[in-house]
Amino acid sequence: MLLTDLNAPGGIGANCLLLQLDGLNIVIDAGLHPRLTGRAALPRLERLQGLSVDLVFLTHCHLDHVGALPVLLREHPEALLVMTRDTACLYQVMLRNSRTVMERQRAELGVAEYPLFSYRDIAACGRRTIEVVPGHSRHFESARGERLTFTLYASGHIPGAAGILLEHRHRRIFHTGDVLFADTALLDGARFPGGDMDTVIVETTRGATHRSAPRESEMERLLGCIRDTTAHGGSVLIPAFALGRMQELIAVLHAARRDGRLGPLPLYLSGLGIELLNQFDGIARRGGHLRARRKMLRELRAEKLPLHHSPERARPGVYLLSSGMMVESTPSYETAAALLGSARNAICFVGYCDPDTPGGQLRDARHNGQFLFSALGRSVPVRARIEKFDLSSHADREDLLAYTLGRHPRAVVLTHGDPPARAWFRARIGEADPRCHVVDPVPLETVPV
Ligand SMILES: [Zn+2]
Ligand SMILES: [Zn+2]
Repeated sequence: MLLTDLNAPGGIGANCLLLQLDGLNIVIDAGLHPRLTGRAALPRLERLQGLSVDLVFLTHCHLDHVGALPVLLREHPEALLVMTRDTACLYQVMLRNSRTVMERQRAELGVAEYPLFSYRDIAACGRRTIEVVPGHSRHFESARGERLTFTLYASGHIPGAAGILLEHRHRRIFHTGDVLFADTALLDGARFPGGDMDTVIVETTRGATHRSAPRESEMERLLGCIRDTTAHGGSVLIPAFALGRMQELIAVLHAARRDGRLGPLPLYLSGLGIELLNQFDGIARRGGHLRARRKMLRELRAEKLPLHHSPERARPGVYLLSSGMMVESTPSYETAAALLGSARNAICFVGYCDPDTPGGQLRDARHNGQFLFSALGRSVPVRARIEKFDLSSHADREDLLAYTLGRHPRAVVLTHGDPPARAWFRARIGEADPRCHVVDPVPLETVPV
């Protein structure tokens, strides 16, 4: 197999891997880099020029995996697109929202290349899609007669997320996608295949991070912060990924309200989180095991963040808003600018932030320093309480390592991690199995695996 990582800057970014298996050209994910703008945020799709792409697999619909899909499919209309049935309910919502944000950024930040794709490009993806049920194998034969069997397995990261098993001429290759083994308030953890694999392609997000605090105790600490802040007349902003994290927190707030750990409070949500919760309702009614439902919003009396809402003049409440990394021109970015200047308020980070995004910078900002909201053209003093909670939707490194080694792989490919995270996996695998061939692909260099 030949493997090429098309994510030019490396690390966690515009995820996109090209696998070439005896004449079969397979692409896994086509994401947008969260901190780059314009065409620079795309994977290097020009490397696919002249190739006939057989299959494109989508592991899940976070934007760093799905954001460039309409561009890839526009350039390769011959490709078939494979994803789980649940991902198929969600990915077009994410892409339409991404297009709306790009239009806003074109106006506010002057990015002339935006939007990178049209609504027609998004709809065209749907016409090439094969929806599969996790655990059910499918056979594929290319126009050139090359055969492949593939099976998707729930990866527990967000609804619809999957790892991908490829079986080609007696060789088993498993790509983990983004993984969480633990159950959450929203969904069950990963259900991955056992047995030996020839090659495991493993995400390494938490390779440089010690085992996380138990999720329940982090959630209790978050609820405590909400109680304290609102009791003293302040509001709480929780920047959260609209897909997955937001609905998990809705389920947690709902349970806390029901058993009296949280009193009645205004709760504001961004529209995308509500739209996705509606989709989750459809998935759950079809038999999917999702524990966040639309009726929770009614019972919490949650409302969509009104246009031109000013938190300074509203009652103390909770703002559960996207984007999780506080990217410019998003509701969490604008609400942070309104809340940051008062010591009564709190901003609670609950997920991964790239260090170069506004969220990553504010998370580590000095108390009483100034924070520049460049898209709004103003600085605000850092007076609000800033808290971090370890609620990652990625597996602990020890668990991923144990899963990987348990497959007795001939080769392991490291992906979706910063250099120190990859280094930890490389070292541990080397110690445990010195014969294992560990590949940390250099972006845009084709390597045999
Ligand atoms: Zn993800
Ligand atoms: Zn990811």
